[in-house]
Amino acid sequence: MNFQEFKKKFPSKPKIIAYFVKVRYKNGLVCNHCGGSEEQIYQRLDLPKMFECKSCGNSFSVFAGTIFEKSSTDLKKWFYAIHLFLNGKKGISALQLQREIGTTYKTAWRMLRQIRLAMGNKKKKGDKKDDDNDDDFMQTIIEIDETYIGGKAENKHMSERVAAKGIFKKMIVLGMLERGEEVRAFVLDDAKRDTIMAKIHENVKKGSQIMTDEHKAYYWLYSQYQHQVVNHSQGEYKKNDAHTNSIEGFWSTLKRGVYGIYHHVSKKHLQLYVNEFAFRYNNRKNKGMFDLVLAQAIL
Ligand SMILES: [Zn+2]
Repeated sequence: MNFQEFKKKFPSKPKIIAYFVKVRYKNGLVCNHCGGSEEQIYQRLDLPKMFECKSCGNSFSVFAGTIFEKSSTDLKKWFYAIHLFLNGKKGISALQLQREIGTTYKTAWRMLRQIRLAMGNKKKKGDKKDDDNDDDFMQTIIEIDETYIGGKAENKHMSERVAAKGIFKKMIVLGMLERGEEVRAFVLDDAKRDTIMAKIHENVKKGSQIMTDEHKAYYWLYSQYQHQVVNHSQGEYKKNDAHTNSIEGFWSTLKRGVYGIYHHVSKKHLQLYVNEFAFRYNNRKNKGMFDLVLAQAIL
């Protein structure tokens, strides 16, 4: 969607609200208070975000409980911000967004944070039973690898290291990429075996084929998975299917994004950035990406 198409699709605030209502209430509007159905619900002319329910007499905002709820920023700017964020292969910085839509830097920064929340808001807990849902697990060929973000301190002079304080501290991210499917990545507290194994068990179905490097933490995978170790030092990674090239490709995109556009990222925000890049990767062929972000904007 280019800018012209965007303007055609979202020419006005009422159109934007109507569009959001369609995405949020797939089966028709429902009253937030009494659960009353569409026939009894009317849009308020004075406040078009608000709808009034004739069954119970209450009003509700169709943006309640979403990333847009507490914002006073124009909805047109919000929608355009999402569009820009998804269109750029590596996202957009708060500074760029500030210039594009004409808000303060702080507002642009907050908006991007909210959009990232929506991108990472993949599943609602309790939506599905974890036990009998195979779809939740990765299960064919999965490349697993860990990487470190930050940690540039080694190359710095000691005085710079002290000045930079926490910024240069290394943070570990564990990634799992099911070939041809999706990637999931998690910021971990440490690279200990138990921490890594717990995450793998949560995400990968037992018996699946896993490719990793020779990191010791992966040694125990053999007990529950078909584990293949890729030995980088002997150049084996190019042989056959046994490689971790896909997850390494994901890491390089993530790092280019984090270091190139965002410059520095704190541990607190790193998971949000990781989710953003995973979302982009997982929806690389999805033409309905924009609607998906809107659907996931309900927190
Ligand atoms: Zn009602």
